[in-house]
Amino acid sequence: MAEIKYEYTYDVVVLGAGTAGAAAAIAAADFGAKVLVVEQFGSAGGSGSLGLVTPLMSTGIKDRPQCSYIGNEIIERLYQLDASDGNKRAYFDPMMLSIVLEEMLHERGVTMLYHTMVTGVELEGGHITGIRVCNISGNGIVHATKRYIDATGDAVVCDFAGLPTLHGDEETHKNQPCSLRYMIGGVDVDAFWHYLAEMRSQAGLSSTSGDQTAPRPENFSDAVTSGERKRALKPVFLKAVEAGDLEEEDAIYWQFFTVPGRRDVLAFNCPEFFDIDDITNAEKQSFVQVQGKLRILRHLRFYRKYLPGFEHAYIAQISAMVGIREGRRAITEYIFTTEDAFAWRKFDDAVSQSNYPVDVHGRSLRNHALSRDENEPRKYYEIPFRSLIVKGVDNLLVAGRNLGAEFVAQSSVRIIPTCRSLGEAAGIAAALSTNDGWIVRAEMEKKGAEFAK
Ligand SMILES: Cc1cc2nc3c(=O)[nH]c(=O)nc-3n(C[C@H](O)[C@H](O)[C@H](O)COP(=O)(O)OP(=O)(O)OC[C@H]3O[C@@H](n4cnc5c(N)ncnc54)[C@H](O)[C@@H]3O)c2cc1C
Repeated sequence: MAEIKYEYTYDVVVLGAGTAGAAAAIAAADFGAKVLVVEQFGSAGGSGSLGLVTPLMSTGIKDRPQCSYIGNEIIERLYQLDASDGNKRAYFDPMMLSIVLEEMLHERGVTMLYHTMVTGVELEGGHITGIRVCNISGNGIVHATKRYIDATGDAVVCDFAGLPTLHGDEETHKNQPCSLRYMIGGVDVDAFWHYLAEMRSQAGLSSTSGDQTAPRPENFSDAVTSGERKRALKPVFLKAVEAGDLEEEDAIYWQFFTVPGRRDVLAFNCPEFFDIDDITNAEKQSFVQVQGKLRILRHLRFYRKYLPGFEHAYIAQISAMVGIREGRRAITEYIFTTEDAFAWRKFDDAVSQSNYPVDVHGRSLRNHALSRDENEPRKYYEIPFRSLIVKGVDNLLVAGRNLGAEFVAQSSVRIIPTCRSLGEAAGIAAALSTNDGWIVRAEMEKKGAEFAK
């Protein structure tokens, strides 16, 4: 085995500084732990920053939509920086998010080990004794005296530990479609808004479309998808496909959002890849990264030629990471089921709440509303803490989109606010854990943790 050049020991070690990992680290530090975060890139926020994912989808919980004190703090800080919208504060600037997270991590005294890749797991029986990592300094090992948290998004730690994992749809084992998001700068957003309003009006779609003089709202978005649904810009896409300026795949799924604080930028939730069956395969990730850029280039040429407001557009940013909606999931003490989501099930050890619809792209399950049990006054489901406790080892939690959940259930859970709240719960639980196990929820609440009621 290669020489080990460095070793670090902390109370809690978080693997992955993404949406869930950053929240886990902040929460663990807030609850008294000395925390180390290992992250392969040089930035916090994962899919929500480097992956350029914006805006926040909604949990639909009326009084506390973030379900997380850290989530509340993040959006407030973004708002103060003019990087979150003044309305629902759902739209945000992904790059500002990474800085806000780093400010919060720094203030809490969390140690960041960036540009460092998890490469293996040291095990003794059912106990993790260290995580092998690699960076420019060489190979090293990081140890946690309390708990490790796998927040890699794809259960990388579980996989390296040799634990079985879940992958894709239960029948086909095919992952959700992935994307490569990007941002376009140099857009005359007002001119584009007026054009879009006109096109919406022509298509008979509602909203402010008819009124050309109305100021554009603070934030707006639009989409073009295949299928029957009427979309304002669909005719333009079809015209470009016919002219050979776009390929058919470029017009299957296209969506943009405005970005608070960036007056000439739009953020695109595409191109999307529907046929990648296993996105935990590095060759396929590389394919998406390269082919995605070629598609983005076609989009850019199309915008300049066909869309008013885009005459001077340029590519402002392309995601550094493939946008993975679902890859590998951990096998945990309780697997959160699709039935739990649809039945708005409640749990004694609940750590998060949501009624975001199930959202499996490329299938009729996209945006399928959760069923409504008229006898249930609390119209949301809860996620139990047991779906974060990894089975097969005694000191590993999982947080974020790689929690223990069935495929369709995960498609609802995976949104940023919920991943944050799961990270927060894992961080608190890890910080307060003892050698014998987890302290009970009542004890956690006594120490200041706020969970779903
Ligand atoms: C294209 C796309 C569009 C989406 N749209 C929305 C939306 O509009 N609104 C919304 O709320 N949600 C959306 N989501 C979902 C949401 O963004 C993600 O599910 C959520 O951010 C996942 O958070 P996470 O912390 O679990 O994983 P991530 O944020 O992906 O974080 C995982 C982290 O682990 C690191 N890591 C992985 N492997 C290693 C390793 N071996 N060593 C070291 N570090 C490692 C990664 O670099 C990353 O920083 C979207 C997702 C995608 C992909």
